[in-house]
Amino acid sequence: MKERKVELLAPAGSFDCLQAAVNGGADAVYFGVEQLNMRAKSVNAFSVSDIEQIAAVSHENGIKAYITLNTIMYGHDLQLLRNILNEVKKHGIDAVIASDFAVIEQCNQMGIPLHISTQANVSNIEAVQFFARFSDVIVLARELTLKQVEDITKEIRRRQIKGVSGDLIKIEVFVHGALCMAVSGKCYLSLHSQNASANRGACTQNCRRPYIVKDAETNEELLIDNEYIMSPKDLCTIGILDQVANSGVDVLKIEGRSKGADYVFTTTQCYREALRAIETDSFSNDKIEDWMKRLSTVYNRGFWEGYYLGHQVGEWTSNPGSAATEKKIYVGRGSKYYPKISVAEFIIETGSIKAGDTIMITGQYCGMVKEKAETLMVNGALGEEAVKGDKITFPFSTKVSASDKLYKIVETING
Ligand code: SF4
Repeated sequence: MKERKVELLAPAGSFDCLQAAVNGGADAVYFGVEQLNMRAKSVNAFSVSDIEQIAAVSHENGIKAYITLNTIMYGHDLQLLRNILNEVKKHGIDAVIASDFAVIEQCNQMGIPLHISTQANVSNIEAVQFFARFSDVIVLARELTLKQVEDITKEIRRRQIKGVSGDLIKIEVFVHGALCMAVSGKCYLSLHSQNASANRGACTQNCRRPYIVKDAETNEELLIDNEYIMSPKDLCTIGILDQVANSGVDVLKIEGRSKGADYVFTTTQCYREALRAIETDSFSNDKIEDWMKRLSTVYNRGFWEGYYLGHQVGEWTSNPGSAATEKKIYVGRGSKYYPKISVAEFIIETGSIKAGDTIMITGQYCGMVKEKAETLMVNGALGEEAVKGDKITFPFSTKVSASDKLYKIVETING
């Protein structure tokens, strides 16, 4: 078996997702707090007071935690930035991911390890050499080909470009998740139409909508055939992960801090398995087919390999929302946990669950668990169906809290 050297970095937009990343086999997670990160509008956004717990959960599970502070910073952000960095330092968050020079400067002054965000669009070796003075990891622009990535990693070794820590500067690339039609950090669509700046983490995703092309002279309108002409399909490199991993990169990143624990668990687990297969020389087409099938069950807009194999233009999605082959339908929440007998109780708040249904639970202790409810205990007795107001119980190995969610899984017409 070859020595494992590539780090798998998963998104954590909530404590559920953090645990799902751990369970899926991530080596590290990245997260954001308050409004100074590129998912500032996320429903479950963390706050400064969560930093301690994020560090504790990550480190107890033997993984690293990186905080994204990668928006453009204005003068009025600097006090909040300092407060966040003090907490980062105090609780031993492993690195800050940033592109604004104010953050870079502050981290360097405070001795906090720094990763340069993809927002900096690093696309060549000279830019790597420049940023290496301040950082230990550089996330490359997502628009590079694998050949360009490989040229950069080879040149780092040839020139022996070292980061702040004294080790060779590390290169990180995206391997899975949503892509922008615009080069990162260079999109003004959302700012222009909604006064919501993508560069302040407030993107309203206008590019994901259908657009009509209009002839300004004749007013003739054309609806572009079944394609969302500014909305790229999602990046998925699992079929070429051997080539990506062998391009000399050090960190593989999965996008998706605003996605659910099911997405985080499934993507992390598939990429972990793929990395293991590469390390053990058992990476095969059959396995790729199985991973693709599993990746298709969670949120996606259709897949392509991004620009790695030389595509000049994005592949556009034909779907306004997710093309996932499974849909999760919310039915209830956690109501009690019996630790002595390891049994969880959930209350049905809407819809119903029948014996034989596939259920999914997401929560801060379990991450994401999906299983078939072969039998159903409803209000303490064996039953066929549980409806609103009923309590169901089943064996469960982790603690359950009131914020744990219970879903029913159904196949979609995409499946
Ligand atoms: S509008 Fe679309 S292309 Fe622009 S930043 Fe948002 S997601 Fe990216």
